Formats: sequence, C-alpha cells, structure tokens
Amino acid sequence: MPELPEVETVRAGLAPVMEGQVIARADVNRPDLRWPFPENMADRLTGATITRLRRRSKYILADLSTEETLLIHLGMSGRMLISGHTVGDFHHPHPVPAKHDHVVFHMGNDARITFNDARRFGAMDLLPTASDSDHWLIRDLGPEPLGNAFDEDYLVAKLKGKNTPIKTALLDQRIVSGLGNIYVCEVLHRAGIHPARKAGRISAARVAKLVPIIRDVLSEAIAAGGSSLRDYKQTDGELGYFQHTFRVYDQEGKICATPDCTRQISRIVQGGRSSFFCPQCQR
Ligand SMILES: [Zn+2]
Repeated sequence: MPELPEVETVRAGLAPVMEGQVIARADVNRPDLRWPFPENMADRLTGATITRLRRRSKYILADLSTEETLLIHLGMSGRMLISGHTVGDFHHPHPVPAKHDHVVFHMGNDARITFNDARRFGAMDLLPTASDSDHWLIRDLGPEPLGNAFDEDYLVAKLKGKNTPIKTALLDQRIVSGLGNIYVCEVLHRAGIHPARKAGRISAARVAKLVPIIRDVLSEAIAAGGSSLRDYKQTDGELGYFQHTFRVYDQEGKICATPDCTRQISRIVQGGRSSFFCPQCQR
C-alpha cells in the first residue's frame, strides 16, 4: 500500500509530464472507484490545464486552470502509468489498454497517464481549489510530517495523557497525516520505543526525538524514490514502487539491524495490523 514517500514519488514522476500541460481528453471507463466519480468528470477535465501538481498527505492534488482541483488517491493498489512520452532517457510505448485502466488522461504533449487500480480502493474527486482544505478527505487531517507545523512542542502536546499505544497514535491521521504502518514501524525502531507503549507514558524528551526521526525516515524514503525515478528501470512507465530496505518492517525472524544486537525481529498485531519490532532495542 503506497504511503507518503511512494505518493510523493508518483507526484514527482508525474509533474514533468503533467504540469503546465492541457488535458486534451480524459477517458473515464467506469462510474466509480471506491466512491462514485464526480458528475461529468471527463467533461470537467477536458480542456483544463494542470497548473500545479501538489501533495497533501497521501493525496495527489492537480490544480486546474478551471479553478477546480483534481484529487487522486491511489488507495491500496492504484498505479499511475506514463506512456507515449520520454521520461529521462526512456521512451514508454503506448500499451494496449488493460482491464483495470479506469481513467486515462491524454495530455497535450502526447503523454498518456493511466490510472490502473485492480482492487478499486483508489478515488478521484473534483473540488474548488480555493477551498480545498474543506474537502471531507482533507479537513480533519493533522499537519504534514515534513511541514513546519509538525514540531516537537506540537507532538508532545498531542500525545500528552494519551492512553493509546504509540503505534496507534502515530497512525492517527488527525495527529500527523500521511504516516502509515510501514514507516511507523521503522520510526519506532529507530527511536527505540516499543510499539505497544502507551503514548502518554513516554517522556517528553523521547517524544521530542520522534520528530526528527519521522522526518529522516520519510526523507530517506523520498530520496530513494527520487533516485528510482532517475534510474527509471521500470520499463512500463509505472511510478512510485521502488526497492526499499526496511530495518524491521516485514523482517520477522531476521536479526535486528542495530549494531551488536543479536535479537530477532518480532511481530505483534495491533488494531488488525502487524507491528514489527526488536524486543531488545525497543522498550
Ligand atoms: Zn535490536
């Protein structure tokens, strides 16, 4: 499931072929994904120029010349494919349309951007650009983990007295938006905090240290995504899924990556999701 760094990688990969370009035509091949598409979506997109491609949390926001913004959510399995355009040194041929190609953007520069989503947990919506933060998917989101509003004082205040496990608190999108299961596992290992520890029982000093760790873990993953775009080994033009090296996520039974630690990574289930951690390093 794409998390913030993967979504940012997709955004960065799409920007050179979509920003400043007109949508010559949009094919909308079904009435809905997770939710119904907005009314007349194809008509509202056709002829609009994408002035800017932004990201908020795990949503890609394409500002249009029509004063509307197209919100794109990749969901569980959504993929963006670029074809008919040179990205870096690689030319992507137009593929034969596939079964799960639900929306296709034909750009004025001849690039074709295909949203393919086998499980259809993805979403698209159109919202007024001027009031984008009022949208129901956005209005309750906490600050961006890489933004200025997310700092030590903020996180200490938010976690104070909280009886929920720290893992659950960091996944709460109202506290900080865009963090998902994978990167929270990695953050807690780096911070040496057990995922089941009650958030309100962690000292302010240790909570404060989480902020730079969260920024580092996400920034490193975004950098890895960026270099995957430059290498561009994915011949089908698919964006955002690159090789990761995780210290704990999905590493159950492997020896902990901390120097001199010989313990195996454990897994517990919290709120229906797997938490991976080192019982030695994380207390
Ligand atoms: Zn360890």
